[in-house]
Amino acid sequence: MCLVVRMKKLIDRLERNHVLTHSEFAALIDGQSQETEADLFARARAIRQREYGTDVYIRGLIEFTSYCKNDCYYCGLRRSNAKAQRYRLTEEEILHCCAAGWKLGFRTFVLQGGEDPAFSPEDIAGIVRHIKTQFPDCAVTLSCGEHSRAVYRLWRQAGADRYLLRHETAGEAHYRKLHPPAMSLENRKQCLWNLKKLGYQVGAGFMVGSPWQRTENLADDLLFLHDLQPDMIGIGPFLPHHETPFAQEAPGTSEQTVYLLAILRLMFPAVLLPATTALGTIDPQGREKGMLAGANVVMPNLSPIAVRKKYLLYDNKACTGEEAAECLACLNRRMQTVGYHLTVSRGDSRMRHEMEENKK
Ligand code: SAH
Ligand code: SF4
Repeated sequence: MCLVVRMKKLIDRLERNHVLTHSEFAALIDGQSQETEADLFARARAIRQREYGTDVYIRGLIEFTSYCKNDCYYCGLRRSNAKAQRYRLTEEEILHCCAAGWKLGFRTFVLQGGEDPAFSPEDIAGIVRHIKTQFPDCAVTLSCGEHSRAVYRLWRQAGADRYLLRHETAGEAHYRKLHPPAMSLENRKQCLWNLKKLGYQVGAGFMVGSPWQRTENLADDLLFLHDLQPDMIGIGPFLPHHETPFAQEAPGTSEQTVYLLAILRLMFPAVLLPATTALGTIDPQGREKGMLAGANVVMPNLSPIAVRKKYLLYDNKACTGEEAAECLACLNRRMQTVGYHLTVSRGDSRMRHEMEENKK
């Protein structure tokens, strides 16, 4: 059977809500061609249009600490990077970012940071509580790594609505090549299941083109996501950071990232799917291309300008220079060029609701 026809059949099955086997996913990933892209992107856009119209949800990213006790080989914030510039925002500064963001129309704040022991679980619970009190119409998303179930419960009770924790790669052997022995895929996955059980809207995800990644690893990622059924999926290209063991590794590509975004939109019609900063960094048109492949979320930076360049997960990170308002206006223009527009909304996940509906 000709390759394009074979790919079309796989895409048909995905669209009809059939999960593919590992080898079928691998064939679809390897079968990327202009014809397959055209077909896949058009269907992903149609599903996105049906589910979300032309709305793009915005999340205000507040990078509250650049300290991290972990040592992931790919990340510029890893503790062994002695040259990293470290900072912590105070609670007052965080609330100030939220206030500025609220005026601009943000209704979700994402508190992201390294795993920084200087913030105790109670400190973070206090910050969440104060944000929720001052901005009761907003959602709070946490993205600060792996913690015990008790800690995740504390934060949930404090009012946190969502949690982002990319699984990074779902295959054991590949995970070990990206992380030191002190970290484990098993724990990372367990955290995701715990978060789900605690009622968070959960975001998982992976890097595209990370060192040693092969097609079979990406197929593992898609199957793991199918099991987990997350509310949000964050994927972006791996980008090297000059002060890490992966400084000389090749980056991932925007082409493969965008192709995978479209596959994810077919697999999870209602999922919240950001066009990430990493995608906008590897390709100046990356976020627009992401939208045209089914993405429906962007995450502009609300961190104070003075710290932006210090939160360097990878080199040449986009959007570190502009004020939040400029960032937003620029993104809005970009989205409009491809027929979409930013919207003022909490932008909650509809996945859970739909799953409940389907059970009836
Ligand atoms: N410490 C938290 C959150 C901050 S890191 C955590 O690890 O979950 C947020 C994400 O940045 C990571 O999940 C990883 O996928 C991404 N990241 C880190 N280094 C990167 C790199 N060099 N290239 C692309 N993405 C990277
Ligand atoms: Fe720390 Fe997250 Fe970077 Fe790993 S990816 S070193 S946990 S900030």
